Amino acid sequence: MRSFELLEPATLDEAVGLLDDGDPGVRAVAGATALVPMMKARLFQPTRLVSLRRLDGAMRGVRDEAGGLRIGALTTLTELERSARLHAVAPVMSRTLRTLSNVRIRNVATVGGHLAHGDPHMDLPPVLMTLGARIRAVSARRERWIDLDQLVLGYYRTAIAADELIAELHVPAQPADVRAWYEKFTALSADDWPTVGVAVWYRTAGDRITEARVAVSAATERPVRVAAAEAILTGAAATGETFRNAAEAAADHVDPLADIRGSAAYKREMVRVHVRRALERAR
Ligand SMILES: Cc1cc2nc3c(=O)[nH]c(=O)nc-3n(C[C@H](O)[C@H](O)[C@H](O)COP(=O)(O)OP(=O)(O)OC[C@H]3O[C@@H](n4cnc5c(N)ncnc54)[C@H](O)[C@@H]3O)c2cc1C
Repeated sequence: MRSFELLEPATLDEAVGLLDDGDPGVRAVAGATALVPMMKARLFQPTRLVSLRRLDGAMRGVRDEAGGLRIGALTTLTELERSARLHAVAPVMSRTLRTLSNVRIRNVATVGGHLAHGDPHMDLPPVLMTLGARIRAVSARRERWIDLDQLVLGYYRTAIAADELIAELHVPAQPADVRAWYEKFTALSADDWPTVGVAVWYRTAGDRITEARVAVSAATERPVRVAAAEAILTGAAATGETFRNAAEAAADHVDPLADIRGSAAYKREMVRVHVRRALERAR
């Protein structure tokens, strides 16, 4: 491994000032659970790492705010998993976190690192997409909000520029009539990354679905909302037949990638099974 600079700024302003749009070897580092394995595999050779460790105080924790929760980017996945506030606002997140990787990783991995990495197998992006979450990205040039829908642009490619940091995540309060579920299917071992991840979110009035969101991840090159399935659900009765039709539409409209967890045809079949299962479990 080539030697590199490791800097530990004390403020967010200082940290963004140390990033560099023109040098792909300059990166932020938070929990390091994703970055260090890439360095060990020589997929990434840094010239400078900007550690966010000392920004803990300002960028860590779960706080109530009007309309939802504000979650600092340096909040660890364990802190999120155990947050009573998160459990009250979005129980689907708390459940999902318990299935994510293992306790050792969750103890150090941060939500900002999780969202910035852009790996299509991440468990939280599809869930946050259906919850209508967004992140605040900060650079020396500007500050902006990015909807989770717009965050992951492709395989390990996100909308976060090289000189930007994720400062926080905002999760809106969920209406009382929402049902939400994340179905994680692991083909290798129980604590593996997902082969297919399906997040569903829908609102009902009586037995009718008035609004629906379906996101598929892991099987595809990035997490995607599946408009065809959402259209079938919206306005229909929340029955097994509707769920089956929505699952068929999802399987027909996603574009699965083959990898060590299965062929594209196998993953398409798993999308069909797990979209229906997620909708049933949400009910
Ligand atoms: C053995 C193992 C199993 C795993 N299993 C799963 C699993 O089942 N499901 C799952 O979803 N994930 C899984 N993961 C991935 C894990 O969720 C991520 O490694 C972790 O969330 C990354 O967070 P981090 O703080 O360690 O990021 P880091 O490794 O510090 O950084 C990751 C990337 O994000 C950037 N970054 C970090 N913080 C910020 C910020 N605030 N703003 C902008 N950019 C930033 C870094 O520059 C880097 O590019 C697994 C990881 C391991 C090692």
